[in-house]
Amino acid sequence: MRKLVFALFLFSFSFSKAQAPEKWSSSEIYNQIKKLNFLGSVLYIAAHPDDENTRLISYFSNEKNARTAYLSLTRGDGGQNLIGPELREQLGLIRTQELLAARRIDGGQQFFTRANDFGYSKAPSETLEIWNKDEVLSDVVWIIRKFRPDVIINRFDHRTPGSTHGHHTSSAILSVEAFDLAGSRNAYEDQLEYLSPYQPKRLFFNTSPWFYGGDEAFESADKSNFINFDTGTYFPLRGISNTEIASISRSQHRSQGFGSTGSRGEQMEYLELLKGDLPSKEFGVFEGIDTSWNRVKGGEEIERILSQVEKNFDFANPSKSLSELMKAYELIQDLKDEHWKEIKIEQIKDIIYACSGLYLEAVAEKPAITPSEELKVELEAINRSDENIVLNSIELTPNNSILNPGVVLQNNKGWDNKMTFKIPETANYTTPYWLEETGSMGMYTVKEQKLRGLPETPLNTKATFKLSIKDVNISFEKPVVYKFNDNVYGETYKNFEIVPPVDLKFEEDVLIFNTVEPKEISILVTSKRADLTGDLNLNVGAGWKVEPIKTNFSIAQSGGSENLKFKITPPEGQNETRLEPKATINGKVYDQHLIEINYDHIPDQNLIRPASLKLVKLDIKKKGQNIAYIEGAGDAVPESLVQIGYTVTRISPSAITPGLLNKYDAVVLGIRALNIQDELKYKQDILHDYVKQGGTMIVQYNTNRGLVVNNISPFNLSLSRDRVTDENAEVTFLAPEHAILNTPNKLTGNDFKGWVQERGLYFPGTWDENFTPILSMHDQGESPKNGSLLVAEYGKGHYIYTGISFFRQFPEAVPGAFRLFANLISIGK
Ligand SMILES: [Zn+2]
Repeated sequence: MRKLVFALFLFSFSFSKAQAPEKWSSSEIYNQIKKLNFLGSVLYIAAHPDDENTRLISYFSNEKNARTAYLSLTRGDGGQNLIGPELREQLGLIRTQELLAARRIDGGQQFFTRANDFGYSKAPSETLEIWNKDEVLSDVVWIIRKFRPDVIINRFDHRTPGSTHGHHTSSAILSVEAFDLAGSRNAYEDQLEYLSPYQPKRLFFNTSPWFYGGDEAFESADKSNFINFDTGTYFPLRGISNTEIASISRSQHRSQGFGSTGSRGEQMEYLELLKGDLPSKEFGVFEGIDTSWNRVKGGEEIERILSQVEKNFDFANPSKSLSELMKAYELIQDLKDEHWKEIKIEQIKDIIYACSGLYLEAVAEKPAITPSEELKVELEAINRSDENIVLNSIELTPNNSILNPGVVLQNNKGWDNKMTFKIPETANYTTPYWLEETGSMGMYTVKEQKLRGLPETPLNTKATFKLSIKDVNISFEKPVVYKFNDNVYGETYKNFEIVPPVDLKFEEDVLIFNTVEPKEISILVTSKRADLTGDLNLNVGAGWKVEPIKTNFSIAQSGGSENLKFKITPPEGQNETRLEPKATINGKVYDQHLIEINYDHIPDQNLIRPASLKLVKLDIKKKGQNIAYIEGAGDAVPESLVQIGYTVTRISPSAITPGLLNKYDAVVLGIRALNIQDELKYKQDILHDYVKQGGTMIVQYNTNRGLVVNNISPFNLSLSRDRVTDENAEVTFLAPEHAILNTPNKLTGNDFKGWVQERGLYFPGTWDENFTPILSMHDQGESPKNGSLLVAEYGKGHYIYTGISFFRQFPEAVPGAFRLFANLISIGK
């Protein structure tokens, strides 16, 4: 059972789906009133979750009180995951939520584009080819027109391609282009159906000594176009420094291992002006922009009222501000400026809610429901002030059921009730909108313009409480939530979800056959409602055989499941197909699998995908059977080797003793084992001795920073940062007669087709003459890289070092990668 972490202070109601509701103290209300009285906005732009400078975001949000947002072009699908097995779109989902968790702490908002993080890219030219440049640019323009920032700040330098990740430079290039396009009627005209062109005032690059290669070079840099300011502000109302908030925010990127300890004191930030006029240091980025209520037509009276509310705020009794707040609320509703009107109405409503001690909640009786089922919702409303507050009605979406209590909510006297309503048969399932349609390597497909840029799918079940306060009508929208009491953690909130009636789950994503022997598979059919009966069909590609092809299931209870078994026989030669099960229930066909992602720093996430099992028949000959696997940073290589018929024993570094390894045909080190397994520094001699006695040792990639050993190999070998990111890069054979390319599997160019994401990384740059380089490959425009696979005879055995990313190819069942690896294990046998 996991508990949602209680964030230090929480800001915006609008996107919080499964957090416990925010409860503001007087000091938080006061901070929000200051934000209400500031009409200025800053947009920060970079490429990935974790690129953003949280010190700056927190500074603008909490010290300047500006609306502050981070636009991360991607959701970080291509990164690593240090906390669990999720990769690709599931990792992107986790990292989206980590950004939202970070923004709840630093007070910013979050946006994305449709660009997909497809993995490491060396140059923006490559990035912008794999992304659809025009679509990503149109999304950046869309977000600028929607958010309407006065100031845009780039994390990266658009003028230095090749100095950092291609996605990074691309984010800056697109930002510079979008700055010029957003204000033009002629750019992306289709967007103008929904919003108007908008020209931001200034564009900056958030530079630092890092971009100059160190403090010394930065000292002597020409700073005539820079402004700098101290972001180390201390906030007595919060008891914390801005830099400390920034660290807590940054520490939300747990999947990336970005835990950060806060510091206190002066912290300079530098902005280099790219477009617009250079502001003075005294007035900073908003110089020349009226950030008071006078900015909007009709704002003078609001300015007069709300500046008094701020000045006279009673920390002991915030409800004393209600009369004036309700007056301002009515005036804001009359504003002609739709942009500021919408923003300020939401802000002032949150403040009114908190000042009156209101608590409004709609709790579903269970965490999930299927379309056309009935849902019971418990309602709670309480007013904890002396104000005259009437609860007029409650409306539930999606089907607009209405309850009209018309009761006066008296101070601290709770009101509760129940509503039952039917979820429409056509209701959308709860799932991330950007993953609903199949995308490309570089882009998500999102047809609906209004969804583009949003961090999450908008709520599909909510309750609107319509009240009157001081005889003024005001309504509050609350998500329908699910909560329960956990015996250890107490009150626990979960997302309420709409799910398909049946969940189809295979144990694995890929099933590999290395012989024509049939294998039994099972599929777990789980019912999401009571009394579910239906048929399950397993269709499969030509040459493959499934028995039985159709079977039925009958599940009495919601949450109950049946494990259905099937036998699969592969065809003779190398072949690949997908098994796509279809359940038919009352004439309707369902093919979904529900993936749940649970971590305690983010709300639980549900992802609905088509159920699918990849079936691969390989044609691999192998010598040797027993493999010792020494774990590194975590990879699925051992499971994959078991699938093709090896016996794999996982051995922890501390268990390695002389003689233990003799019975194994090969010892394989997991990825980055020599970076993270400290114990290995005491075991290198034993490992190398095992090779000397006739063993085969295969070392997968490590990074050159932070190696735990001095000698990664019995011979000289030094790692570089060479990598080949193009998974289709041509591979040439440097040692075509070498056993590794010929026995027991004769490898050809075909074996290097169909690879995924990259060829390999951190190849050795120099090596002893005892090593034979086997392969040569390189990315476009680069020199040949020959260090991807190096083999040396040592004593009676073989030492092999390889930066080839087998760990990425195996989960996708890439045949050539398996055939090559089988040859590595077979060497000398
Ligand atoms: Zn990045």
